[in-house]
Amino acid sequence: MTTSLPKDALALLQRLGVPEAAYAGAGLSARSPITGETVATLRETSPAEAEAAIGRAQSAYLAWRKVPAPRRGEFVRLLGEELRAAKTDLGLLVTLEAGKITSEGLGEVQEMIDICDFAVGLSRQLYGLTIATERPSHRMMETWHPLGVCGVISAFNFPVAVWSWNAALAFVCGDSVVWKPSEKTPLTALAVQAIVEKTMKRFGPEAPAGLSEVLIGGREIGDILVQDHRVPVVSATGSTRMGKEVGQKLAARFARAILELGGNNAAIVAPSADLDIALRGIAFAAMGTAGQRCTTLRRLIVHESVYDALIPKLIKVYGSVKIGDPREAGVLVGPLVDEAAYQGMQKALSEAKAAGGKVHGGEKVDVGQGGFYVRPALVEMPAQTGPVERETFAPILYVMKYNSLDQAIAMQNAVGAGLSSSIFTMNMREAELFVSDEGSDCGIANVNIGPSGAEIGGAFGGEKETGGGREAGSDAWKAYMRRATNTVNYGTTLPLAQGVSFDV
Ligand code: NAD
Repeated sequence: MTTSLPKDALALLQRLGVPEAAYAGAGLSARSPITGETVATLRETSPAEAEAAIGRAQSAYLAWRKVPAPRRGEFVRLLGEELRAAKTDLGLLVTLEAGKITSEGLGEVQEMIDICDFAVGLSRQLYGLTIATERPSHRMMETWHPLGVCGVISAFNFPVAVWSWNAALAFVCGDSVVWKPSEKTPLTALAVQAIVEKTMKRFGPEAPAGLSEVLIGGREIGDILVQDHRVPVVSATGSTRMGKEVGQKLAARFARAILELGGNNAAIVAPSADLDIALRGIAFAAMGTAGQRCTTLRRLIVHESVYDALIPKLIKVYGSVKIGDPREAGVLVGPLVDEAAYQGMQKALSEAKAAGGKVHGGEKVDVGQGGFYVRPALVEMPAQTGPVERETFAPILYVMKYNSLDQAIAMQNAVGAGLSSSIFTMNMREAELFVSDEGSDCGIANVNIGPSGAEIGGAFGGEKETGGGREAGSDAWKAYMRRATNTVNYGTTLPLAQGVSFDV
């Protein structure tokens, strides 16, 4: 912590094997939210270079799809090994570039390792079905085939894990990957690319050049990926605004979209809740990552009978949580990503006040260095109105009362986003109702844990304005492959389906 931050970042990049030419340029400033200073300046990918990279990825796909899936799994197993070896350095770089506390930076790399492990197993399980056919001496089956170049557009707040949720699956599915990381976090992307290239060398010539490409720049470069007909699937993670633009363009050329957009996640605290567990679950979900997770808890819907037992304690935790340099031990809340995030937070707080909200915290905190540090805000709201209805990407928790579970579930569902949700209750009927057809309308619905901190084994994503995409576990792999239904006639006649006769 005594050495300068740019020096620390450059040392990490060197240790991670990033060639110096990749971050010695002019154009895009890579800033650290820890101090706000520029740690490196990068040359952006030009449109012509982006097109050439997509071309290389297209050729790589044609070769990669011929490599048997379990061999492709072996490549991802080696990638997992390289990530294990690089975990400390890459985790620290995530902390420097995204401002996450150390354990969260390391946790993000662990998530990459976990999805690699998952994908290795998957590489021997890309199962299709055999389906009963109505015609004699016929066999009908479903087969899964590699799809092509998979485009990945990612957000600043999970600068490396989101790539891996897509890439580890895409690689075992036989696709190549072109990644446009957030313009706020290019350095971690370059580090990941260096790790992939090291893995390719270890794997040998079966891994074709162009299997993994990175495009550095802003939304104009992302747009090239979105518009290119050689890219049949694009996984885009970011704001709902971005998803609306990208989704429409992909639909116009009939490409597949995996959209992972904003959340406005709620938790319900029922009368029977274990309030100690609720308090800890709420604190992590609402304040962790300084409120900059798509699954961050933003709305707390508390039964009126437990409001006074819970909320004063929560306000106390908000007042005492340690804010500061995310590399320091004991710090739980690091910086906001930039000034725009700070301004957005202050604007939402003023609107909440105007709508009758009582604000606790939310002020700027001076930690003796640059950067935008704030005390997380807890806002007691009379109703779910104004800024409560949208996502503000900062640590603001709006707290409201309810008196019947139906009312609480209706409030939980009454916003545009549909990513994550949870209920704290010891009542089995309430818990089951919450996760039932009539309960939460989100892609993630939890009981007695907060809405954030998902594991890779489940399919991750949400409904409505969150975009409907699913990534990571369960059967999310199917989005990276094309499905064919095959019917084989091994008989000596040609019976037609549905009894149709057509004798020529
Ligand atoms: P953002 O929408 O500003 O940018 C995300 C990415 O999209 C960046 O790489 C950006 O360059 C690119 N982009 C933006 N507009 C584009 C366009 N028109 N065409 C092509 N590319 C475009 O989001 P952000 O500020 O980096 O991240 C925060 C947002 O991301 C929040 O809304 C958060 O909820 C969401 N998010 C969602 C998930 C999820 O899995 N659902 C995960 C992380 C973050």
